Amino acid sequence: MEQIISRCGNVCSECPWSRYMRKKINKEDWEEYSEQVKKYTGYKPIKYEWEGCVGCLTPNEELPKHPFYNFLKKCRTRKCGTYNEVKNCAYCGRFPCANTVASNNFTKEKVSDKIGSEIDDKTFESYIKMFDSMTNLKKIHSDLHDDQIKNPKPVSKKTDIVELKGEFKNENYHKTYKKLIEIANSNLSIKGIDTVSGYENYLIRKDILWRLLWIFGLYGKLSKNELSIDSATLYENRKPISLPSNEEHWKLYINILAEFGINTKLEIKTDKLYTPGGYMRVKVPQTNKPTYIIEMKANPKLQKYQFFKALNEILSELKSKVGKRAFTNFKKLNFNSILS
Ligand code: SF4
Ligand code: SF4
Repeated sequence: MEQIISRCGNVCSECPWSRYMRKKINKEDWEEYSEQVKKYTGYKPIKYEWEGCVGCLTPNEELPKHPFYNFLKKCRTRKCGTYNEVKNCAYCGRFPCANTVASNNFTKEKVSDKIGSEIDDKTFESYIKMFDSMTNLKKIHSDLHDDQIKNPKPVSKKTDIVELKGEFKNENYHKTYKKLIEIANSNLSIKGIDTVSGYENYLIRKDILWRLLWIFGLYGKLSKNELSIDSATLYENRKPISLPSNEEHWKLYINILAEFGINTKLEIKTDKLYTPGGYMRVKVPQTNKPTYIIEMKANPKLQKYQFFKALNEILSELKSKVGKRAFTNFKKLNFNSILS
């Protein structure tokens, strides 16, 4: 059969989650096959009984109704490729862009390093190569002529900031609000925000950052110009977002906060920080102790108007005034209910 390449460079027609592989592998061989996939990729393909994924090139309206496909529908690379009408990222003038989910985590060398022994060609072809997306895309890209490559159609950033219809009760609140406006108007360090994948990435980052500011402001322990919060408190109040899942991911938000004068540190409290799947735990196993603490210090400019204290007071007041709508209002910087 002809090879089917996904938007991000995976080989759909050889993917263990696809219906193509369920036709190729017999039911009795499935368990052993799926264990091998898990050994090299870290994930076990779902049961043989499921008919399998129809592939990410299938348009949304033709996808079967199954929760599995929510992941496909939300994928920013798939959305970007569809919007720009390119077969996959290799055909795009921005390739390789910072926002595609294509990665080079599944090269032969990287997987060999991870499992601690050299992988032979046959094993690589059978269980890994279909996910070596960046290498797959680079190969396609190098064979294309210039006239086959298309620039993405630009998209513009939208703002949902609500206009204020009154005055804050003091100057410190007003200056804190100005700082929040500055954060809301920034690109949050996203490169290529004018592409669908960049903009989608920005929206995810914005949702996480705004929830973190909400939790820090309302539930953080305040001491003068410093604020700290533990992993368990963060976890309890995280919804509707998922917390950064590893140190690298936290670093992203730490760097963004630093740009706005909030110097942040991740203090690890245990040597049992990670689950076997590679996610950060929020509590030390068999205890109630947090696994990490986020510590923040306002820079001298922010200290002048007691940023953390003002944030805490604004958010507390907002919460008492509008209850469950408070977080949604905060995200839009809609403080009208607490203005005079
Ligand atoms: S990660 Fe996105 S682009 Fe890649 S195969 Fe999955 S749905 Fe398609
Ligand atoms: S902008 Fe990025 S994600 Fe979108 S099609 Fe181009 S390379 Fe792919």
